[in-house]
Amino acid sequence: MPDVNQILNLIPELKNGDKALITKAYDFAYKAHEGQLRNSGEPYFIHVVETAKTLANLGMDAKTIASGLLHDVIEDTKVTEDELRKEFGDDIITLVRGVTKLGTMKYRGHERHVESLRKFFMAMANDLRILIIKLADRLHNVQTLQHIRPDKQKRIALETIEIHARLADRIGMGKLKGDLEDASFPYAYPKEYEEVNKLIADKSEINKKELQTVAKDLKAELDKQKINIVEINQRAKHKYSLWQKLKRYDMDIDKIYDLIALRIIVDSVEDCYRVLGIVHSMWRPLPGRIKDYIANPKPNNYRSLHTTIFTGNGALVEIQIRTPEMHAEAAYGIAAHFVYKEKKKKKNHNGEQRFEWIDQLRDLHKTVEEPKKFIEHLKTDLFQDRIFVFTPKGDVVDLPSGSSPIDFAYAIHSDIGDHAQSAKINEKIGTLYTVLHNNDVVEIKVQKNANPSSKWLDHTKTTMAKKHINQYLNKNSLLQKFRSFAKF
Ligand code: MN
Repeated sequence: MPDVNQILNLIPELKNGDKALITKAYDFAYKAHEGQLRNSGEPYFIHVVETAKTLANLGMDAKTIASGLLHDVIEDTKVTEDELRKEFGDDIITLVRGVTKLGTMKYRGHERHVESLRKFFMAMANDLRILIIKLADRLHNVQTLQHIRPDKQKRIALETIEIHARLADRIGMGKLKGDLEDASFPYAYPKEYEEVNKLIADKSEINKKELQTVAKDLKAELDKQKINIVEINQRAKHKYSLWQKLKRYDMDIDKIYDLIALRIIVDSVEDCYRVLGIVHSMWRPLPGRIKDYIANPKPNNYRSLHTTIFTGNGALVEIQIRTPEMHAEAAYGIAAHFVYKEKKKKKNHNGEQRFEWIDQLRDLHKTVEEPKKFIEHLKTDLFQDRIFVFTPKGDVVDLPSGSSPIDFAYAIHSDIGDHAQSAKINEKIGTLYTVLHNNDVVEIKVQKNANPSSKWLDHTKTTMAKKHINQYLNKNSLLQKFRSFAKF
């Protein structure tokens, strides 16, 4: 009999009752899946244990870890929903049912798959933990792809990169995103995977040595300046994201400075800036590569200071500076908030709106009928890169990149969209067709007799704006017909 401690040992602070709940779920799942085997020939139970271990590593709460253990019980065993409810209560049933709703990702054709995804997203909108369990489940499935039929491997791998990894990214779970992509990469793009491996084979060793020297010198200086180092380590860039970057640099590995980066974790934001100052006084920084993601977080809320320095030996290395909280958030995103939630009573300026896109996701099914269209909208509306644009009052509006002030106006209110006349962007006069950028401040001037025209459709990205413009145009052409009829 396997041992529940392989999960319990991953949880730093086991609270009263947690141990009992997880152990109970462990034993229950073990019995329910007894005799079942995976394609690999391993007991099925291993799969749910691995899912639960990922959740424990992500710092999730005991109910989520227990639900990870139970996530395939309703779908794949004789256990009924009622039995599970009797044993574990409503919360866990909600989580398990949410995950089960997806129809276990056994794709039987495109339509069915999209339909499952839609159900899943609806369930997910009620509780983000459902999404996180599903992502942990998917991670183990792609990590064991070698046991799947080859024609299925590629499809599952591509889908993981296109959908699951992007969802992980959207909720700020950088580590899970990277793990999902890297497990899928060799199956989705085998040739490119080999190419990346060849490119980094020699590079990595040189960089590691260079970084060790920099780390040693910097540590000595920080000790002298009495700055406490919580952690200092090297991180190798995930292979899939390295490939994405290489494509932007003509596959020239010498242009990639963060192949391996030095990561320094210090106690406070003040210390972060002090360390940056010290780094720049010791080594010359590469101009244009100093990034302050603390003052200006990335859209997924990633925070850190980045700089790239000349080591003096002809090499360039990237240094990332952050606090432990930023570090947890970068790796675990929303999950970090479960861990840090007591501390997080205050809202930042985009506070609660950070995950507004999940509500939009839930509402999509109301506007789009066919599954195929649904997935297209999903990709354009939610999975493309997003930009964050501000109202003059500082409210944030989350839009797909390439959006215009028209999209912005409709995102605020359909009346503002329907009567938008012109736009001010960052206090300067712009047009309604100007493409917006991240962090733009946009003010819409409205006028009673200003109205949408069909040309607007060429300058909008969001489904919301297009829907309202079309509605207006349809209504108006009917009205015109009616008028000309009346005149006659
Ligand atoms: Mn599963």
